[in-house]
Amino acid sequence: MSQTISQPRLLLRRLHGVMGSAAPAQDRLDRVVRVVAQNMVAEVCSIYLTRAGGVMELFATEGLRPEAVHTTKMTGGEGLVGLVAERNLPLNLSEAPSHPRFSFRPETGEEMYHSFLGVPIVKGNRAVGVLVVQNVAPRRYTPEEVEVLQTIAMVISELVASEELVNPDELFEDATTTGQPITLDGQSFSRGLGLGKARFLSPAAAVRVTVAQDVDAELENLDASLAKLRLQFDSLLSEPETKVGGEYRDVIETFRMFAVDRGWRDRIREAIQSGLTAEAAAVRIQQSNRARMSQIRDPYLRERMHDFEDVTNRLIRILQHHEDGANILEEDTILVARNLGAADLMEFDRKYLKAVLIEEGTRTAHMTIIARALGIPVLGRVSGVMEHVQEGEDIVVDALEGRAYLRPADDILETFRANLAVREEELAAFASERDLPTETRDGKQVTLLMNAGLLVDLPSLDHTGAGGIGLFRTEFQFLVAPTLPKVKEQEKIYAAALDAAGPDRPVIFRTLDIGGDKQVPFLPRQKEENPAMGWRAIRIGLDRPALLRFQLRALLYAAAGREVSIMFPMIAEVAELRRCKSILQKELKRLKTHGHKPPSQINIGCMIEVPSLVFQMDSLVKEVDFLSLGTNDLMQFFFACDRGNPALSGRYDLLAPSALRFLKQIADKANAAKVPLTVCGEMGGQPLEVLALMSMGFTRFSVSPTAVGPVRRLVRQVDLANLKQFFDRVIDNDPHSIRDSLQNYARDHRIRF
Ligand code: PEP
Ligand code: MG
Repeated sequence: MSQTISQPRLLLRRLHGVMGSAAPAQDRLDRVVRVVAQNMVAEVCSIYLTRAGGVMELFATEGLRPEAVHTTKMTGGEGLVGLVAERNLPLNLSEAPSHPRFSFRPETGEEMYHSFLGVPIVKGNRAVGVLVVQNVAPRRYTPEEVEVLQTIAMVISELVASEELVNPDELFEDATTTGQPITLDGQSFSRGLGLGKARFLSPAAAVRVTVAQDVDAELENLDASLAKLRLQFDSLLSEPETKVGGEYRDVIETFRMFAVDRGWRDRIREAIQSGLTAEAAAVRIQQSNRARMSQIRDPYLRERMHDFEDVTNRLIRILQHHEDGANILEEDTILVARNLGAADLMEFDRKYLKAVLIEEGTRTAHMTIIARALGIPVLGRVSGVMEHVQEGEDIVVDALEGRAYLRPADDILETFRANLAVREEELAAFASERDLPTETRDGKQVTLLMNAGLLVDLPSLDHTGAGGIGLFRTEFQFLVAPTLPKVKEQEKIYAAALDAAGPDRPVIFRTLDIGGDKQVPFLPRQKEENPAMGWRAIRIGLDRPALLRFQLRALLYAAAGREVSIMFPMIAEVAELRRCKSILQKELKRLKTHGHKPPSQINIGCMIEVPSLVFQMDSLVKEVDFLSLGTNDLMQFFFACDRGNPALSGRYDLLAPSALRFLKQIADKANAAKVPLTVCGEMGGQPLEVLALMSMGFTRFSVSPTAVGPVRRLVRQVDLANLKQFFDRVIDNDPHSIRDSLQNYARDHRIRF
């Protein structure tokens, strides 16, 4: 089959010819399926279109029984066709009838066809139909075939838009867009409240022309637009104090890197050479990136792919010549999008941008990180948001409770206006408490540091009054880079972190924690059964010492004459830490022989995040200057409970006496040896957990920037001696959890959070 699709340009032309003819739309569809079946050597080619209420109706077929046309209708995501439309992604099966979603329709006679390839017909990011090819012989279609079918689907989408086939209102009809108030649930990625009118991020407009008339002219348009895109980023970079501040440069730099990526340009060029216009080609590549992205579980890599999408959207806007003046806001606005890029966010006027509501997104996305730094609430993973929201409608975003209210009734609006005022007072209060000592009522000092990973986090040191950076996750920079960052590039970032902190606030750099669920593009990817327990972090560092050595070198260069703290992640045996230390010694020796200025002091630390290490505390404390407790990993291994699996979230309570006793052993050993121990996992930012940890002798916490104010306030309300007595009494009360007891204690002692 692949030899016959080697001339996609001709095929596209033929299809375009068929579609442009004066024949009625139904006739044209019938001819389209014939041409596609013939060209793809498929026994079946069918087109299903979406009708009101999400019904998928067979509109044309070559190969299935003709009487099934307009008779076969599938409701609510039924069948494989429904699955393709629902996921808006291709589906490639060699044994379709044995797929659990296969729905047997006797009128079509399709049970004899084993292989199935379905791709969505997309309009404005939504599947408005599905194009399917089927063959009798079981086989998986090649990636090239999938690409070709996607390209064809794109051309067909032009025809679908013609009003003769399906009324456009019907294509986008949705039972929930009836003006009734509705509530949608999501996850709060950046906490806060926002109230305003819905505004869609003007994404790339729908492709207007799909088939190129003049391939050379399209190639020229692409090159000119790419040059303009680069210029846009260059000009942002040339203003160190842009409207959003110089600290965002690294994000823009990442985007610029994508904009000059040759692989990306070549793929778009190839799509143009196959007969698409430049705008259609860019959208096609975006679609296949999306399809690839959906296969990736690793959230960080998904972010990288999303950054690509962000840059692609900008390119498409340039290709369509309507990129200017789109982002001016004139009233309080809630930005609504399937996903949003950091660069997009920065273009909106912060005075009016009250919140962001997105269908996708993650907590660690650039956009989220920046929104958090700017104090813009973000509610993410709000499913169905694009279908439910209409431009200009009122929306209340409650990114404290994880909820959005569309078209809210008046009483909800009133409540929120009141809550908003309270929230604003609260934030102002945290800011005013920034310089207060983090000390309990009975005088116990607590060290409060913050976690960081990108340059955009650094201004939070001053905003929050954190005492330093207790965990600098160096892998963030690696995860957003397409190639291994050079020593010089790494050095720049580390030096910037040390500069921002100044001489009095420590920065603890953690060496790379990559691999596992944080795959980087420049290392061979291995399929692992249990990536969190796999080849990750220091295991990679010790197996590929060059990577670790380069990073240590960059850290030493960056520190030059200053104090630096370095720690190693995922250490399971003290022997591993010793090896790390000897590599560091080698680098230090090299530094001196090359005449570089060494750091004034190097503190060496170790993450405790693998349970085996807890049973080696006696020798561990002798090897380190400080320790950090990574509760995120430690607790996932303690409970054998995948931290990234939403189905398990909340299943085990960190306030279970078993977990607390385990953690107490660590605090006792570290305190006895007088080795500073900092909690740097998420547990350290949760109020009741902090009460438990303080009761057990933990006095150092490194938390996300937004948690610094709340934890400081919490600590200042505690009478530690009294809390400890209470804790010691209740620790054995309930084998399941002491959460309720602690909650009651807090209430009885007027500890508010
Ligand atoms: C941890 O495991 O608790 C930790 C701080 O590291 P990370 O979340 O980066 O794995
Ligand atoms: Mg960890």
